[in-house]
Amino acid sequence: MRRKEQFAQLFPNTPAFRWKQIEQAFFVPTIRSWDGVTSISKEMRAKLSHLPWMTVSAKQVMESAKKDTHKALLELRDGEVVESVLMENARGELTICVSSQVGCAMRCGFCATGKMGLKRSLESDEIIDQYRFWQQFLEDNKREEDLHSEFSAIAPRISNVVFMGMGEPLANYENVKDALNALLAWTNLGPTCVTVSTVGVLPRLEQMLADKDWPHVRVAISLHSAVAETRKRIVPSSYDDFLPKLADWARRYLKQLGNRRHHLTFEYVMLKDVNDSDEDARALVAFVNSIGNVRCNLIPYNLTGCEYVRSEDDRIERFLSILEGADVVVTCRRTMGDDIAAACGQLVVLAEKK
Ligand code: SAH
Repeated sequence: MRRKEQFAQLFPNTPAFRWKQIEQAFFVPTIRSWDGVTSISKEMRAKLSHLPWMTVSAKQVMESAKKDTHKALLELRDGEVVESVLMENARGELTICVSSQVGCAMRCGFCATGKMGLKRSLESDEIIDQYRFWQQFLEDNKREEDLHSEFSAIAPRISNVVFMGMGEPLANYENVKDALNALLAWTNLGPTCVTVSTVGVLPRLEQMLADKDWPHVRVAISLHSAVAETRKRIVPSSYDDFLPKLADWARRYLKQLGNRRHHLTFEYVMLKDVNDSDEDARALVAFVNSIGNVRCNLIPYNLTGCEYVRSEDDRIERFLSILEGADVVVTCRRTMGDDIAAACGQLVVLAEKK
């Protein structure tokens, strides 16, 4: 049960602002236990002390050789483990990548998490606490240069959150929605600083469009091919008329929500001789043009020990130039943290690690 629901059971007649005071304290990285929530009474704190202050705890935190990526193995209260990643870009901005499930049921052929199968979905508290974990980590690891700056008391802030860790976020819709709403309410993150990446669960995408409580964060769709047969081969949850149905949804999404700051992103993992030919690029151009304000993000394939191979650099360049030549807005994702298996698709918790 979520902490918020446990609180409501324990204190049925308490005004709603009490829970808000507690939630606010959750996001103060120097407060590490119920005792620190001084905005509520001592009696209330005592009663709350058996509720988990944190639902995740670090088993291990790894740092990449370049020191720009950290990966944490986070243990949940039932002993399951998920991974969460902190990345720093060249401008010093911090992005965290959170997991939404333990494992994943989608079994995309190139993704390590898919190999685990689905163990369970995360509770919203377990998603929220991945953010809190990194916030506290940053607080505890303030760096020399920060300590000497005039803002020495302030740890660096997380500026973006991406739901690109383990799991399919839209297969855990309600918990992801709850976590998104909490993050937007209690942190400095605005909706365009948060991205939910999905394999494209169409019924949930439809629900999202009609749901007034779904916060309009950015959406990225893992397309990976605009050719039906190829997509079905590499993304087993795909089916014959997925692409036209997705295009129809995407047009309605952009009509309803699109503006200069709101676009859709298609992610495209570059797999040698699978989806990286000139024809594949032209199919992607045609698909994007049939929709509108879509950006493409090419992701060089990261090794996961399966049969796929990363497209050659000059192939990726050529693919990119075909898209650019057709005025498609396209970027190529920089691989980060592959030496600690923290890059896209490398998040997996092996049974023997537990
Ligand atoms: N289930 C969500 C989140 C997955 S991870 C989704 O499907 O979108 C985020 C992105 O990394 C997805 O686009 C995913 O397809 C991609 N990815 C998975 N395995 C990869 C790999 N080995 N190399 C590069 N990208 C990968």
